Amino acid sequence: MPVTITDVKTILTQPAGSRLIVVKILTSEPGLYGLGCATFTQRFHAVHAAIEHHLKPFLIGKDADDIEDLWQTAMVNGYWRNGPVLNNAISGMDMALWDIKGKQAGMPVYQLLGGKCREAADTYVHADGASPEEVAEIVRKYMEQDYRHVRCQIGGYGGRKPRVTPPEGAKSGDYFDPRSYMRRTVQMFEHLRASVGDEVELLHDTHERLNPADAVVFAKQLEPYNLFFLEDVLAPEDNAWFRRIRDTSTTPIAMGELFNNPAEWLPLIEGRLIDFLRMHISQMGGITPARNVAAMAAMYGIRTAWHGPGDVSPVGHAANLHLDLWAPNFGIQEWCRFGDLVYEIFPGTPEVRGGYMYPNDRPGLGVDVDEELAARYPYEDEIINWTQARTPDGGPARP
Ligand code: MG
Repeated sequence: MPVTITDVKTILTQPAGSRLIVVKILTSEPGLYGLGCATFTQRFHAVHAAIEHHLKPFLIGKDADDIEDLWQTAMVNGYWRNGPVLNNAISGMDMALWDIKGKQAGMPVYQLLGGKCREAADTYVHADGASPEEVAEIVRKYMEQDYRHVRCQIGGYGGRKPRVTPPEGAKSGDYFDPRSYMRRTVQMFEHLRASVGDEVELLHDTHERLNPADAVVFAKQLEPYNLFFLEDVLAPEDNAWFRRIRDTSTTPIAMGELFNNPAEWLPLIEGRLIDFLRMHISQMGGITPARNVAAMAAMYGIRTAWHGPGDVSPVGHAANLHLDLWAPNFGIQEWCRFGDLVYEIFPGTPEVRGGYMYPNDRPGLGVDVDEELAARYPYEDEIINWTQARTPDGGPARP
């Protein structure tokens, strides 16, 4: 008797800063359901509509066993494909189907992928301060908690704080000075290595704030500080510049959280132009494509570093973790340190101890949702301000 999909629900909640979107797929087998992450926090209404009006009618009545077939057919069902809205909706479906299959098998999802290569995933956490001294203090606190990897930023993405004097009449926006950001970041790492030593692994996220020529210089300038990786030093639109960075510096490169089409990551892997896959798994369409790209990258000696910020739901973090445990080429896992409320709403959210993220070994992805509690934290609409980035002369920039 095939297990069929009987209903698809979209759960929207905002217990902390980010609006989280979780898809719940119910089946013809009583009590058997799965959860998937479809979180695109800045455009949640669009994902919600894609799930309710397009994906749900497509899925009802279909066989829940056929993850690959449903992924392939859902991806082209609208004919026009790719893009963060539709990929996130498909990810919600994909992870929920893996969750269901794990529950049917009585196994955690990492077992379905091929079993564990490790008992836990090593993580990195974020340190952001107004001065190099403040960042060093945060790094030391994390080291005391046995974290081995810390991402270090000074003044937010693009180092937003320094003096900027735009021309008269310039538009309002989130101003930053790219060249000043470069100088201050290099000074920060110089201070960090002198004060916290060489043993702790340090990372940095450029967040595509530089023009390509400056990005080449920046990767070179950071070489002496031996970063674990430098993230998004270029925007996806500037992918062709990675060759220049590769040819001029040894700084390890992580890239991909904005990618959603395989055409974007394929040349970077084939050319061995990056060191870490930095994809946001719901943005690329879920566990199914993430498994494929991880397996391909393994053959090129490139490691995983799945995106793990607060705008990935606990279900999405669990999907990251199951892939981390399985992947022979696991590199590192970003961790956003959820508060107690998120653990209450999503029982089974992965736990981190001594810097390592552990699975709970329940069947499937291992995370559930308390829908009544989630509903007590409804989403709030807002205009996104931090993405309205501008450079000193008032021109628009990438965020
Ligand atoms: Mg990033």
